[in-house]
Amino acid sequence: MGKFQRREVAAGCWSYGEMKLHCEVEVVSRHLPALGLRNRGKGVRAVLSLCQQAPRTQPRPRAGGERGGRHHACLFISTLKDKLGTRYELKENIEQFFTKFVDEGKATVRLKEPPVDICLSKANSSSLKGFLSAVRLAHRGCDVEAPLLTFTPVKTSEFEKFKTKMVITSKKDYPLSKNFPYSLEHLQTSYCGLARVDIRMLSLKNLRKLDLSHNHIKKLPATIGDLIHLQELNLNDNHLESFSVALCQSTLQKSLRSLDLSKNKIKALPVQFCQLQELTDLKLDDNELIRLPFKMGQLTNLRFLSAARNKLPFLPSEFKNLSLEYLDLFGNIFEQPEVLPVIKLQMPLTLLESSARTVLYNRIPYGSHIIPFHLCQDLDTAKTCVCGRFCLSCFIQGTTTMNLHSVAHTVVLVDNMGGTEAPVVSYFCSLTCYVNSCDMLM
Ligand SMILES: [Zn+2]
Repeated sequence: MGKFQRREVAAGCWSYGEMKLHCEVEVVSRHLPALGLRNRGKGVRAVLSLCQQAPRTQPRPRAGGERGGRHHACLFISTLKDKLGTRYELKENIEQFFTKFVDEGKATVRLKEPPVDICLSKANSSSLKGFLSAVRLAHRGCDVEAPLLTFTPVKTSEFEKFKTKMVITSKKDYPLSKNFPYSLEHLQTSYCGLARVDIRMLSLKNLRKLDLSHNHIKKLPATIGDLIHLQELNLNDNHLESFSVALCQSTLQKSLRSLDLSKNKIKALPVQFCQLQELTDLKLDDNELIRLPFKMGQLTNLRFLSAARNKLPFLPSEFKNLSLEYLDLFGNIFEQPEVLPVIKLQMPLTLLESSARTVLYNRIPYGSHIIPFHLCQDLDTAKTCVCGRFCLSCFIQGTTTMNLHSVAHTVVLVDNMGGTEAPVVSYFCSLTCYVNSCDMLM
């Protein structure tokens, strides 16, 4: 008896491995299912401590002093919001253990009183096993091998290591000497005067959401593309002049859903931009765009597009393939469609033109290791005729007007006159194609 000795443990050296557990916790009342409510399945980062404390519910004087100094083991669940923790009695108080998924770091401890299920997840599985066996012993009233601790409130730094979200909105809060917590999934550093992307951010491999809005960033490192889970990237209000081809061809192709490039100095996006196939939200407002990527129609997942207050004279013909929920092109310099087509057709076709058309039509692979780089660029930017064939520099160019309601459910007016129409440029590879589609031209 009395093996549970009270120990005063100095702050800072009180971590006894298996007697504490870091994981996510959700405490679910068993009354909830009866009310038709269900477990939300959303745990909170917590530190669990197995501690000794005099039972609160024993006003009886200790008999004969025999049990004097005897403390029961109990469980403390501390979270960032509740560092003092919630206390749960363990002795003969556990109804059931659910440990089927213990190897995945998940387990549930069902208590008798209060009638709750303590659902643990995202734990290290071996730590979890050790912790659960200590809990089991505490339930039986057995002594636990390792000395138990007197509960001390958990320090904030204990949680920092597992922090998933960090929002910094002023320069003075920006961490200079300390690293960002490795576990971050959402990082915002706005109004911090950053001139470039902090290299430490690029090692945060769990990052899903990165908000660098309202800084002075001029260039993006290609290594942002190594953040394989990055879904949202906000660069609103920076000094960007471009969005690189390397980024368009990075793993962002598979992950990036939302991109905010508004309030920058971008004049054009590369043609490869349309390879960011997962994009659903794209904001390009308040830039200096003189054109949109002409393969825009390939962004088939795009639902929200805004490019207000740019310098767009017209839209690419592929724009018609989009299927948007929201479109804002207000304040551009849309030109009146030209009545006469621009004819750049040359017959017979030049050798370059006909070979380029053949390469593209037959989808023959090309690259700068085979042909000069400028030819690759020409091929990358080839126009698509309404017939689906390609043309390089021999074509007829016609302008039509498109009502933007044909591609978007909600359309912001393009000008103060209440218009929802915008000019679209179309290309024709031959006179035949032009004549056949003449009725769609004005
Ligand atoms: Zn054609």
